[in-house]
Amino acid sequence: MAGNEAAGAGAGAGPAGKDRSMALQKEMIADHFRRLEAAPETHTPVVYTLVPGNLTELIRSFGALPVLPEINALQSGMRGRSRDYIAEAERAGHSEDVCTYVKCDIGMLKSGNIGPTGTRIPPPDLLLLSYTGCYTFMKWFELLREEYRCPTVFLQIPYQGDGRLAPEHRRYIEDQIRNEVIPALEKATGRAYDEDRLRTSLSLAARAEDDLVSVLQSAKSRPSPIDAYFGAVYYVGPIFSSFRGTEEGAAYYRELRGEVEARRAANEGPPTPSGVLNDQKYRLVFEGPPNWTSFHDFWRMFADEGAVAVASTYTKVGGTYDFGFRHDASDPLGTMADYCGGCYTNLNLPSRIEMLARYVREYEADGFVVHSVKSCNSFSAGQLVILREVEKRTGVPGTFIESDLVDPRYFSPANIKNRVESYLQMLAARRAATGAEGARSAGATEASA
Ligand code: SF4
Repeated sequence: MAGNEAAGAGAGAGPAGKDRSMALQKEMIADHFRRLEAAPETHTPVVYTLVPGNLTELIRSFGALPVLPEINALQSGMRGRSRDYIAEAERAGHSEDVCTYVKCDIGMLKSGNIGPTGTRIPPPDLLLLSYTGCYTFMKWFELLREEYRCPTVFLQIPYQGDGRLAPEHRRYIEDQIRNEVIPALEKATGRAYDEDRLRTSLSLAARAEDDLVSVLQSAKSRPSPIDAYFGAVYYVGPIFSSFRGTEEGAAYYRELRGEVEARRAANEGPPTPSGVLNDQKYRLVFEGPPNWTSFHDFWRMFADEGAVAVASTYTKVGGTYDFGFRHDASDPLGTMADYCGGCYTNLNLPSRIEMLARYVREYEADGFVVHSVKSCNSFSAGQLVILREVEKRTGVPGTFIESDLVDPRYFSPANIKNRVESYLQMLAARRAATGAEGARSAGATEASA
């Protein structure tokens, strides 16, 4: 997904590059891809899986390395390679309407499967599909199965149609993990399930999740020490990709938290492509995944105008930790069931609306931006309803911007810049009018006193 597709943008050079956490992240990701390339020689099993509902701790407890195709796609987008990969997939018969993450991944595969850091990605020993709300996930892994002809295991996650995971849903997921996923991993890796190892990994995950939440919630400060959409895709990179539940992952989030706390203590804003954003005129909430092919240009359109993101839904596609979920080592299978069920892609429309409205209120946002990507029905379906409903509940106006994830044909810089500037001017005019109205009422109160 959108996921997620999370992010994992960390392998690209970012504006946060001066921070030690960024250097750490780049090294971790480069090392992961080196280990993947060496996997056939080191006989390390490789498991492909998707960001929402990923069972990274479980996969790693079998000594296997995860590969996240969405992360590869978005990084290919950031590195300017997605156009060719998408063209390759379209030549192979995938239509223009197919999710561009899928086409980017298939195009990369057909071009030799060289990953974003320039190393070869080995074929999977197992395809582990956690099905968390997006139908495309299933078709994508079906295509990969056709290509690789390898074992596949399908974890069916019930959709939160009623806005919650019922006890029987939880049991259903747990049973599948116990009776299908674990045996498939045992077969693919030749190792027995080791619950103690898994528990250690889940404890490390919870530690990293605590630190990530602290980082994301720091945006409640003024000025915000982080950009919670563009900047935060770097922050969620390790936890959304291969490092949740690892020592390196936990160390990265401890380091990042320290850096962000230091910025907050110094009343400093976040690094952006336009420099450090101390003068924050607008606090915005974002819905939808970013565009990756013009990521920094898109970010600059907001940063140049003094707009900072204070919260976003996209940074929750790999887990909604800020609403309290933590991996729980005392209940390994149950906690994985809860995690999968609670991913953003598995939430219904009312839950998404409530999440956004809550962000607008709790982070005292001046506005919110719905970024609708052509590729992703999972995100785009219902976004206009979301826009109207969040405006109604919060009294804060939103705006709607359209482009795509990794297909550069759908990013129109002039139109988008125009839309962003007009929206921010409208927020400024609204603020001025509210200020004048406030001053008039204060004057009237004084006069009557
Ligand atoms: S349609 Fe959206 S959620 Fe589904 S795979 Fe594509 S980007 Fe991800």
